[in-house]
Amino acid sequence: MSKRPSAHRKAQRQGKILDDYVCAFCGRQLPTNEGHHIIAYADGGPASPDNILTLCRECHRAYHNGEIDIDIIRF
Ligand SMILES: [Zn+2]
Ligand SMILES: [Zn+2]
Repeated sequence: MSKRPSAHRKAQRQGKILDDYVCAFCGRQLPTNEGHHIIAYADGGPASPDNILTLCRECHRAYHNGEIDIDIIRF
C-alpha cells in the first residue's frame, strides 16, 4: 500500500483545525504544523481527527527520532 486514502489527509486537516494549529508539545501555533497519527495508519489507526495530534515540524521530527515523549492527553 503506497498511498494513503484521502480520508486520512482529511482527518489530519480536521485534527489540526480542532487543535487550532497549536503544537501539542511546545504550544507554538504555526500554519505549517503537521498532523501526527497517534496510531499509525500502517498499524490500523483510524482515519479520524481523534487519531491526529498536531505537532510543529521540529517537535514532530524530534518525536519520530525518539527525542521527546508526548503524553497523549486527548484521551
Ligand atoms: Zn512543537
Ligand atoms: Zn508523526
